[in-house]
Amino acid sequence: MVDALHNIGFTHVHYAESGVDILKTLGKKISVYADQHPVVSSYCPAVVRLIQLRYPALLPNVNLMRTPAQITALYARVVLQSEGIASEDIGVFYITPCAAKYAQIKTPGSATSGLIQGGLNLDYVFNLMQTYLAQHPNRKSEELARWEKPKITGPAFLWSLTKGESAMMQGRTLSVDEVHNVIEFLELVEDDRHKNLDFLELRACDTGCTGGILTSRNRFLATERIKHHAATLPKELHEVDKARILSFSDQLIHNLKTDRIVAKHSLQLDRDVSMAIRKLEKVKRITEVLPGIDCGLCGCPTCRSLAEDIAKANASIRRCVVLKLTDPHGLNNLAKIWGEVIQKDQKPSTSEV
Ligand code: SF4
Ligand code: SF4
Repeated sequence: MVDALHNIGFTHVHYAESGVDILKTLGKKISVYADQHPVVSSYCPAVVRLIQLRYPALLPNVNLMRTPAQITALYARVVLQSEGIASEDIGVFYITPCAAKYAQIKTPGSATSGLIQGGLNLDYVFNLMQTYLAQHPNRKSEELARWEKPKITGPAFLWSLTKGESAMMQGRTLSVDEVHNVIEFLELVEDDRHKNLDFLELRACDTGCTGGILTSRNRFLATERIKHHAATLPKELHEVDKARILSFSDQLIHNLKTDRIVAKHSLQLDRDVSMAIRKLEKVKRITEVLPGIDCGLCGCPTCRSLAEDIAKANASIRRCVVLKLTDPHGLNNLAKIWGEVIQKDQKPSTSEV
């Protein structure tokens, strides 16, 4: 796999979740940066966006520790810079099945800004790798040995699955997956209940990230494979790898916390009241053509919040992953219709996935 990724064009390969091992090696607890209990995981951007829009009173609960992928990106950059490569010459690309993470990467000023330059569809990269491996079935071991193998422990490898993150937290923890379950539970937390819990792992997708819409396999089979592979991995990093991480601790330790997350006011469509009323009308019409299942996979917690972004010319309807998969032809037509509306507002869409 590493050989295939190098031949696609990557110069270095890291597991996104190896950031968990980096944090542990630095001696950092994973949930230290939150003002209120229970601490809510910031791993899933769809959940963070949901809290920003619908539950702003819970924003002080959101963990401000960077996510493992952000810490991995930070580490990869620091290592390359120590080898003399200028920051602006480094491009970090995240291969993921998560449309919400693409949206986060494309959002200026998000937690990934400056760390990750782009996201790549897992399904697309998987197909490229399969093609390469089929064309090169007999690679010699000396050819493969020139690539440095990415390092990760079994517990870190499980992080993106439901219960993967909470398993590494101390105290009383709870895992909730699938966006409707998450909404139901956040209502309870907002009603001041469950203060006795220490940590909440909330994921928009069923089974965690294996339920991401761009996962190339059945989510249950993918979950089983991840667990099976995790069981073959070490529980601790090798001392040599730990020493390497610790040699960069000064550069890493001061950059582990993200900025405070602020509320998003979904109803503030425009400062001008007549413009706001026109945009509200657009929101209604766009909401009618979206699937209405509130899956969160576009990076917006509900279909209506994507409609609001489209009406404000902050997003394209192409971000709806469900329409993209179920009705790509219809989606093209809708993009033309709402693209014309966006042009009338004289602001191009910038956030297509
Ligand atoms: S649970 Fe789904 S939306 Fe959340 S980070 Fe994972 S793939 Fe993305
Ligand atoms: S707009 Fe599409 S991707 Fe976004 S929440 Fe609705 S159905 Fe899901």
